[in-house]
Amino acid sequence: QNISIGVDVGGTKIATGVLRAGELHDRHVQPTPETGWEGVLDAIAAQVKVLQATHPDATSVGVGVPGPLNGDRTRVKFAPNIYGFTDVPMVDGLRARLGQRVVLENDAKAAALAEAHLGAARGTESSVYVTVSTGIGAGIVLGGRIWRGRHGVAGELGHVTVMPGGPVSGAGLDGALEAVASGTAIARDASYALNRDVSTAEAFALAEQGHPAASRVVRQAMKHIGVALADLQKLLDPEVFVLGGGVASVGDFFFTHVQAAADEYAGGFAPVTIRRAQLGTEAGVIGAALAAQQAEG
Ligand code: BGC
Repeated sequence: QNISIGVDVGGTKIATGVLRAGELHDRHVQPTPETGWEGVLDAIAAQVKVLQATHPDATSVGVGVPGPLNGDRTRVKFAPNIYGFTDVPMVDGLRARLGQRVVLENDAKAAALAEAHLGAARGTESSVYVTVSTGIGAGIVLGGRIWRGRHGVAGELGHVTVMPGGPVSGAGLDGALEAVASGTAIARDASYALNRDVSTAEAFALAEQGHPAASRVVRQAMKHIGVALADLQKLLDPEVFVLGGGVASVGDFFFTHVQAAADEYAGGFAPVTIRRAQLGTEAGVIGAALAAQQAEG
């Protein structure tokens, strides 16, 4: 059956939609409740019911979550960027609310699946999707399949240590990539440097206009991301990287600088080929829906 509902739970937004023959319909976005996981599950279930009322043939549901899952993909170990999201019995909690089993997937792995099947990495044998948003995550696709690793955490790029002694991430690790280069980190550092509240989007806009402090903040973040891609090239040597997420959606400026840093740190081993996510911010919800379809077989 190629009709399913996808849910993409983000640090700030929950997106839902119906995937029908590869096309997303009735996309809906709501803020992520800040009341702990029960509230998040209530919000997901309510929106899924709305979609099921108008799409009764969309029987399977896939949910992408911004954190590592347990081995059998029934629980979220923790979501580093959502308040109160630790050891969440997501599959049971949603079964209680919806009366059906949902398929759980990590958000970056879901988006990687979507880009590999329907987007920028279509036709490739290996790809690594990297999302730069509230957090940083990755999905590794080898031979058309998501590589999960022994414990399911393969691709947890945001928690790779790039600056020991640096800022501490939501997972409690100092100097993690996402603590120095995520959208959250950019907004934090730009706000500090400019002595006022600066959003990630504004930090990029100012940097593009040549604002010295904003440029410094944004360029450092982009450099860290480019270096991480160069490192991944040496570790996994994928055909392509696909860059997505809210921060990457700022466009040319971001891609040019990340590519330059990746080239600089590739060190003559292999070229680092970076493509833009084609499915944009919809990759997560499309991928969650695809994961549900794949599970149905
Ligand atoms: C989480 C990942 C997730 C990423 C993007 C990270 O903090 O650990 O699992 O994919 O954020 O949301």
